Order: sequence, then C-alpha cells, then structure tokens
Amino acid sequence: MTTPLEVSLAAILADPARVSTAPQVIERLSRDFYWYSPVLRKRLDGKIADAIVYPISVSEIQGVLRYCYANDIPVTARGAGTGNYGQAVPLEGGVVLDLSRLTEIESITADGVAVCQPGVRLGVLEAEARNAGWELRCYPSTVVKASVGGFLGGGSGGIGSVAHGGLRDFSQVRAVDVVTMEAEPRIIHHEGEAIHEILHAWGTNGIITRIWLALTPKVEWGQCAVAFDTFHQAFDFSERVATSEEWTKRLITTFEWPIPSFFGPVRNLAPEGKALIFFLIAEHQRQRLEAAALEAGGAITFSAAYKGLRSVPLLSDYTWNHTTLWAIKVDPQFTYLQCGFDPLAARSQFARLRQRFGDEILFHIEFIKNAQGVVFPGAIPVVRFITEERLNEMIDYCREIGVSVANPHVNNVEGGGRYRSDNVQLMAKLRYDTKGLLNPGKMVTFERPAAGASIS
Ligand SMILES: Cc1cc2nc3c(=O)[nH]c(=O)nc-3n(C[C@H](O)[C@H](O)[C@H](O)COP(=O)(O)OP(=O)(O)OC[C@H]3O[C@@H](n4cnc5c(N)ncnc54)[C@H](O)[C@@H]3O)c2cc1C
Repeated sequence: MTTPLEVSLAAILADPARVSTAPQVIERLSRDFYWYSPVLRKRLDGKIADAIVYPISVSEIQGVLRYCYANDIPVTARGAGTGNYGQAVPLEGGVVLDLSRLTEIESITADGVAVCQPGVRLGVLEAEARNAGWELRCYPSTVVKASVGGFLGGGSGGIGSVAHGGLRDFSQVRAVDVVTMEAEPRIIHHEGEAIHEILHAWGTNGIITRIWLALTPKVEWGQCAVAFDTFHQAFDFSERVATSEEWTKRLITTFEWPIPSFFGPVRNLAPEGKALIFFLIAEHQRQRLEAAALEAGGAITFSAAYKGLRSVPLLSDYTWNHTTLWAIKVDPQFTYLQCGFDPLAARSQFARLRQRFGDEILFHIEFIKNAQGVVFPGAIPVVRFITEERLNEMIDYCREIGVSVANPHVNNVEGGGRYRSDNVQLMAKLRYDTKGLLNPGKMVTFERPAAGASIS
C-alpha cells in the first residue's frame, strides 16, 4: 500500500524504491537490541516508524530533512540498529533514516586517519585500515555489523579500550560533518572539542554524514584463554596485565563462574567452576604471558595466533555486551548493568555487592583506560532480573559504594550516564534542531517550543 508520506518522500530520492512502508520492513528497522532490558522492553515494544528511507547521498539527506522540517515529521537516524537502549527506536513515528547505504571509505591518510561515510561497517573499516598498516583504536563487540556513524552516535568503546580509552578519549574522533534539521539543512563541520556536541547524542542534534576517525599502527595479535580456580585470582592476574606498560594488549576480559558456562560454542574453554580470562595480546608476547599466567596458578585453555575477525573461535564474540547475549540465551531472566569499579577499592566493592545481592550479580570485568590514562576495571555484570525496583536498588547501592553506573535501562541521552555535564549536546540541539524533530523523546532536557510559537 502506498501512503501519501511514501509518495512525497519518493519524490525527493533519485530512486523511489529507496522508501519503504512495508509493515515487516518498518517493524524490523524500528527496533534495536533494547530487549536486553526488561524495563525498556515494556516501554518500547510497539513503537514504530511510518516510513523507512535509504538515502545514498548527503544531498538526499538534506532533501528528506527539508521536507520533514516543513511538515513537522520526526526523523530518527539508524546505522545497523545494534544499540542496546532503544536509541534508534522512533518513539513518535515519522521517518527512520537508514544510513547503511552511505558506505564510502574516502581515504586512510598517511598519518592514520580514516575519512569515511557513516554507513561503513566497523569490520570493513578495520580490514581496510589493516591493509594500510593501521587498525581501529577501539570497537564494539558488534564490530562486524555495527556502523561507524552508529558507534559515534550511540556507542562508547570496546575492544582496544584497555589501551586507547573510549571513543570520546584521546582525540580518537578528529572531526565530523553533521546535517542540521532546519528549513534549509546545513552541513556543519565539527572538530576538536566541538565533536563532543555530537558524540553520543543519539542522533538528536544532527545527522553525521562524514567522519574523520584516528587509527593506530596495526599489531599482530594472539588470542588466549586462562582459567583460575577463583575469580579473585583471575582478577588479580588480569589487573596486573591490564595496568602494566609491559604488555601490548587489545582485550582483557575476566568472567566469574558460571558466566563461562553460558558460552555454548566455546564452553570447552571453561573448566567447571573456574573463572576465565580472555586476552588479545601482541603475538610476540603470547608465550611470555602464558608463562606468567602459569606461574600465577592459571591454566591455559586456549592459545592461537589471531587471524582477524574471521578467527574461529573469535574470543571477542564473548566479551563486552556479547557476554550478556550469551547469558540471555541460556536464561531470559538475565539482564545487565554497565559499571566502573574504583581501581583502589574494587575488591571490597565486589565483596559488598556479593554480600548484599548474592548471585543476583555475576562479575564480568572489562579493563578500560580512562581519559586520565588510568586503566580501571570497567564491568558489564550479568544481573538476574527480579523487579525494576530491585534493579534500581542494585544501581543505587553500586553508586552508594563508589561504583559508577551508566544505566542501560533508560531511554534518554541524559539518563544513560554519558551525558556531558557542560550540556554541549543540548546546546547543539537548540541550534540545529529547534523544532525537536530529531529522534524526539531521547533528549529529555530539550523543551519543545509551544505549538504556534515562532521559532527563530
Ligand atoms: C551484542 C552487543 C554487543 C555490544 N557491544 C558493545 C560494545 O562493546 N561497545 C559499545 O560501545 N557498544 C556495544 N553495543 C552497542 C552497539 O552495538 C554499538 O554502540 C554500535 O556501535 C552501534 O552501531 P549501530 O550502527 O548499530 O548504531 P545504531 O544502533 O543504528 O544507532 C545508535 C545511535 O546512533 C544514532 N545514529 C546512527 N547513525 C547516526 C548518524 N549517521 N548520525 C547521527 N546519529 C546516528 C542512532 O539514532 C542511535 O541513537 C553492543 C550491542 C550488542 C547488541
């Protein structure tokens, strides 16, 4: 069935087939992975767009935004839709702008900066970068599917963050171009500090159309898995490797039992009842790391050179938020939190949480370098969901004992824990999206002008 909206949007695009109102397409492209959260599932199920548009150029994006601005139609950007908080769910319907067809990698400069469009998949960029002698500084465990634009719009870090920090640190994102939601949509270049106006703003204040992403010289990597009798032994060893300059590492993930028992295809790497660490370590250091692990009482359960994202097994497929996915596959009652432990007090914080919540919380640690250069135990603990009240009690208790929480059970930029206290994302929205049409409902401190008010 053709709707008037579909007809109008089709007239803007060079090929009218790049608009869809087919119900199954709309339903699929209105969702992301918010169902990880039982709280968000209740709030977001059933929220769908009125049309999906697949632009292939910046001028088509401008055309769609011009039309939507004139007709007060909401627009929600979408990369690959792998976000976890309903970031790309169109709360008020309207258009989902699927950017997955803007896939050009313009260049990888001699000093290691990738210049690309937002729909480029991170895995593709990693491969291209490695061909040129570079690699991504950090990437989410969804690297194969996730887009560069979606990572900037909604992601935070991942594999590589133990060495290079999060996406917003150390000038990793050099610059972005964004298209504004105005009567005449402009392209605004942001660089330096100004990129923070756009990063992790969930597409609420502009559509990212061009990206300058800093890379790092490529390393030949090795993968290994080490088991320890107790979580505390595993934590001690992983922390030592994470915090020592001696090791060149890309990933250090520590799981307490029974988390490794959830990892179907690599269940054999986890001896019953033991804690497990997954490493991506410089290949020339792999043997030395294993010797150090043995000396610390560990057992090597897997060891091999890393052959890129097609490696089998690919240990990173069980880390970061993939860990939660494996847990949910085993028991849909599981959900998760995103925490930062205090490097000086982590052990007592683990003990206090265990004492208060027992095995409702299972520890899964991801070491991360912060913006000050300190490597700390980040964590994505697997949590047994009982009620929303109990989950909030756990979040409150974490904060009370000095464990930071970026709450993954809220659906707005401010509540998710990575909102900038200097409000620069909101300031940008006030400049670029005065009507509040970009991903409406996700930036809750933005107030829409009253109906009929003039907008200057
Ligand atoms: C199993 C699993 C593991 C994950 N692991 C990690 C992890 O390790 N680290 C991590 O940071 N995240 C992780 N995530 C979350 C997510 O995969 C990443 O953040 C990913 O980079 C999002 O990319 P995407 O293309 O899917 O973005 P989408 O989900 O499509 O979009 C994310 C947000 O960005 C906005 N957006 C998309 N494109 C643009 C654009 N061009 N301009 C402006 N706004 C835009 C969207 O509106 C949305 O608000 C994980 C998710 C899952 C399901």
